[in-house]
Amino acid sequence: MADLGRPASKKSNAKEAKFLSRLVVAPDSNFRFSKRKPDQTFGWDKEGAAVELAELLARIDLLQQKLAAESRQSLLVVLQAIDASGKDGTLRGVFGPLSASGVQVSNFKAPTGAELSHDYLWRGHARTPATGEIAVWNRSHYEDVLIVRVKNLVPEERWRRRYRHIREFEQMLADEGTRIVKINLHISNEQQRARLQDRIDDPNKRWKFRVGDLEDRKLWPKFMKAYEVAINETSTERAPWYVVPAEHKWVRNLAVAHILHHALTEMDPQLPPDDPAMLGVVVE
Ligand code: AMP
Ligand code: MG
Repeated sequence: MADLGRPASKKSNAKEAKFLSRLVVAPDSNFRFSKRKPDQTFGWDKEGAAVELAELLARIDLLQQKLAAESRQSLLVVLQAIDASGKDGTLRGVFGPLSASGVQVSNFKAPTGAELSHDYLWRGHARTPATGEIAVWNRSHYEDVLIVRVKNLVPEERWRRRYRHIREFEQMLADEGTRIVKINLHISNEQQRARLQDRIDDPNKRWKFRVGDLEDRKLWPKFMKAYEVAINETSTERAPWYVVPAEHKWVRNLAVAHILHHALTEMDPQLPPDDPAMLGVVVE
């Protein structure tokens, strides 16, 4: 195991940045799902990936503590992907091991009550991270250009304007000190079929399944198109999208951990300076 008390070396950070260049969607790059393989393994093997994930999580844990101690910047991680793509598993496997006091997870369901009587960005804005915190959104404001577009929940002239709203909203958050990374989990149509079937067959997973999921599944091509448009319209330098191959859960978790580690490393949070009055004090 690597020395977990120390940050990653420059060489390993450079290697990580190179790897992430394969996942990120560059602005104006005309991203298509068909150009990426959802079962990609990058030449990793499962055992090696487990060791690397443990090392990375230890480093992320340390960076998260520094972020909290510094209390000047914040990190927003948007996890936005289709049904059964592994959002909950990613939360458990990558964010679960971190300190619950510094990581706030928000789940965005179909809006109800007060959410419906406000603009669509209101509920997300209320859950943006405070300084020193990491916020993770399990689904997000992107639903308002995804399911809303696919199911015509508002007229087209309204959802068309939202890509611009979203770019500007995220730019404002970035200007005010929030780092943003957006992660899409990529699975194939067949993989979704198999996972939904498993949810029906396994009594412990049945609670995750709604009959309405079958209706959504029939709209797969429209969802894929809506995701491609949303990703292309809103992947920016300051709020990039990463498309993560998610058919192998161990690849998915390691890739997401690298995204998180890279963002925190670039944020470079610093411990506050020592209080001179404290140095050399002996506690009796
Ligand atoms: P789940 O994540 O499986 O618990 O499902 C949450 C459901 O809420 C999904 O079907 C989402 O598409 C839906 N949802 C989330 N946000 C919105 C929204 N703004 N408008 C309509 N449906 C939404
Ligand atoms: Mg669901």
